[in-house]
Amino acid sequence: MKLAFSAEDEAFRAEVRSFLAAELPPGLARREAAGFHNKRDTVHPWQQRLYARGWAAPNWPAEFGGAGWSPIQRYIFELECGLANAPEYSLIAMSMAGPVLCRFGSPELQHEFLEPMLKGDCWFCQGFSEPQAGSDLASLRTRAVRDGDEYVITGQKIWTTDAHMADYMICLARTDAEVKPQAGLSMIIMPMDAPGVTVRPIDTIDGDAHVNEVFIEDVRVPVHYLIGEPNSGWTQAKYLLGHERTHNAYLGMLRRYLARIPALIDDELCRGLPAAEAGEYRRRHARLAIDVDALEWSVLRVLAGEEGPALGAAASAISIRGAAYLLRATDLEMAILGPQVVPRFAPDDGTPLVAGAPPAAAGRTTQYLYWWAATIFGGSDEIQRNIIWSTLFR
Ligand SMILES: Cc1cc2nc3c(=O)[nH]c(=O)nc-3n(C[C@H](O)[C@H](O)[C@H](O)COP(=O)(O)OP(=O)(O)OC[C@H]3O[C@@H](n4cnc5c(N)ncnc54)[C@H](O)[C@@H]3O)c2cc1C
Repeated sequence: MKLAFSAEDEAFRAEVRSFLAAELPPGLARREAAGFHNKRDTVHPWQQRLYARGWAAPNWPAEFGGAGWSPIQRYIFELECGLANAPEYSLIAMSMAGPVLCRFGSPELQHEFLEPMLKGDCWFCQGFSEPQAGSDLASLRTRAVRDGDEYVITGQKIWTTDAHMADYMICLARTDAEVKPQAGLSMIIMPMDAPGVTVRPIDTIDGDAHVNEVFIEDVRVPVHYLIGEPNSGWTQAKYLLGHERTHNAYLGMLRRYLARIPALIDDELCRGLPAAEAGEYRRRHARLAIDVDALEWSVLRVLAGEEGPALGAAASAISIRGAAYLLRATDLEMAILGPQVVPRFAPDDGTPLVAGAPPAAAGRTTQYLYWWAATIFGGSDEIQRNIIWSTLFR
């Protein structure tokens, strides 16, 4: 096992840094640093620059337009993007629907969707969760019934991130009710502008509306929008959910917070923060930095493929720790800034609402409240603990 970055890796890091310095639009980086959810049109120019460089899809196979990087290079890219305040863009298309289409899609589907996804012209949402089926996805009830050359889809999805901005949904639906639950599911691409699709926003605790309910009433979809074989949806869903083993470490984001917190403490000291309080914040920062270093080592061990059969458990542990540290980091920022962060619904151009507050105050409450969701989405902490238990101890 080799945990140090090689000279080639460091050269790659330098290349990524200079690209980010030259190409990342400063206004977009400011918005991202302030922690606001990005709209499609605000991130589009950034995705186009990445596309022009051939870097839009770090985790796709090169033959489909992926960057052709090693796992370590992908990791370095993610880390540097986090530090430079580069936003995530079209997450579901690039990290979920895209890899599934590369692996399981017909050549026709690959031709229709992959290039537009890379360019940022085609956004997807992920329609898995339902009101009675989140952790227990196999119990989902949305059904797709074949009628000639079409599937007719009926049901309801919930918590669908970006459904209001997406062109298509990768919809997990029941195509056979007679077999055991996992064996009767299929993954079908559903146009979001098809008659019968209704998207209703859900207001979340962070004061935004980025998740939605999606009501699907007799929506007709051509049969060739089925991904892979009928009733193979469970295999594809597992592939999709396990595709990015280390993303949920959020190390790019954590390094971003760690890098800016000392300056925040210094700034607040000048504004009259008691030295003893500042000392306590510095201790909290140092403890978090040590924990994040340890998390990074765990991620590198996973990337080095040293975990063997326990790989799934390691990914789950990383996810739990990543979410917890994000909350510690954002809680610390909130504590340092004190009452200056109180307004929750700051304007999304990054302007702080309290007179005299530093720019860092903007969006802090929003960001802190949002990160609680990281303990739920992509598999709640409890479910991750079940995976760890069943992998290691049963
Ligand atoms: C911000 C956000 C964005 C999301 N985006 C999407 C999206 O784009 N697409 C999508 O399909 N879904 C999305 N989700 C949904 C997410 O995947 C589910 O919320 C998650 O899987 C949990 O399911 P649930 O909400 O139905 O809770 P439940 O499964 O009902 O769980 C409720 C509680 O019970 C616990 N629990 C359940 N079963 C067990 C068990 N067997 N053992 C121990 N504890 C258990 C859970 O951990 C949780 O604490 C999103 C969620 C959030 C919060």
